[in-house]
Amino acid sequence: MLTITELKQLLSAPKKIVITTHHKPDGDAMGSSLGLYAYLIQLGHHVKVITPTDYPEFLHWMPYNSEVLVFTEHLQESAKLVEEADLIFCLDFNSLSRINELGELVGKSSGYKIMIDHHLDPQDFDDFRHWSINACAAAQLVYDFIVNELNGAEYIDKYVATCLYTGIMTDSGSFRFPSATSEVYRIAADLIDLGAEHWRIHQLVYDNASENRLRFLGHCLSNKLTVIRAYNTAIITVTKEELNQFQIVTGETEGIVNYALSINGIKLAAFIVERPDRVKLSLRSMGDFPANEICSKYFNGGGHRNAAGGSSDGTLLEVVEKFKQILPEYKSQLLM
Ligand code: 5GP
Ligand code: MN
Repeated sequence: MLTITELKQLLSAPKKIVITTHHKPDGDAMGSSLGLYAYLIQLGHHVKVITPTDYPEFLHWMPYNSEVLVFTEHLQESAKLVEEADLIFCLDFNSLSRINELGELVGKSSGYKIMIDHHLDPQDFDDFRHWSINACAAAQLVYDFIVNELNGAEYIDKYVATCLYTGIMTDSGSFRFPSATSEVYRIAADLIDLGAEHWRIHQLVYDNASENRLRFLGHCLSNKLTVIRAYNTAIITVTKEELNQFQIVTGETEGIVNYALSINGIKLAAFIVERPDRVKLSLRSMGDFPANEICSKYFNGGGHRNAAGGSSDGTLLEVVEKFKQILPEYKSQLLM
């Protein structure tokens, strides 16, 4: 393990740095990664952000997006950068399995691994950890890491602020989840003072959908929603053919599960979608209901209590059946 003094010492001279984040990066994954990138380049480091896979179009407006390397599209270049890195920052994930094949390369690299994350049960692969389950976003922890661990507040410019604000806004459900504490609002206020245009960021992320995505959402709500009142649960299922029919691309299914959760009385919502290689589940829950427990116990996944995900090799029908069969086990919590 590295101490903070040793880490600061390492960062006091230009280093080769890789920043990576989880599979199918979301707003927090990209916001925390690009925010840290925008900070580190000011210190003269050679930095690259490598994502395991592509990420939604509605995040491509972010500062330094053109500098991001997508691993699946640049295998050799990414492998070389990871192998030669002095330091590898692992943001918004805590298990190497969350970054697919890139995880093996990161595991093998001799570079120091620094985990900045807010998910439960971190795996031991890191040399330094800035981790808290109480943070609403990895971007909040990057802010804290820069300001309080590295004493680098003066480097939080408009670009760093814009990226970190994006991560905090998206992972806190636009500041509406319990994780959006007064401290989070104070950080957001600071980021706005430092140049984050909160109204523009919100617009770029949330009012930037394709017509296809909106029509697909309509289809899901009209034709694909099942409400199971006996368990206060709502399920939306989507087949491969439907994704093709509406020409749905990476990121365009995001947020649909929240509509199912918005029905009064619903405690648990599931969005179950047939991807080309496997069936993916996204769960959202209200209050104390542990959506992550269902994902880790039954669907090879995990996440937060109120937002979790997993996947399965079974068919869509099998996965939906399995999910329904799990509900009685949680009946008392669902009907509370
Ligand atoms: P989403 O439903 O948006 O894909 O994911 C919600 C949250 O669940 C993510 O922030 C992540 O923490 C977690 N998650 C989603 N899919 C997986 C998965 O396959 N494995 C694990 N461990 N966590 C996941
Ligand atoms: Mn996050």
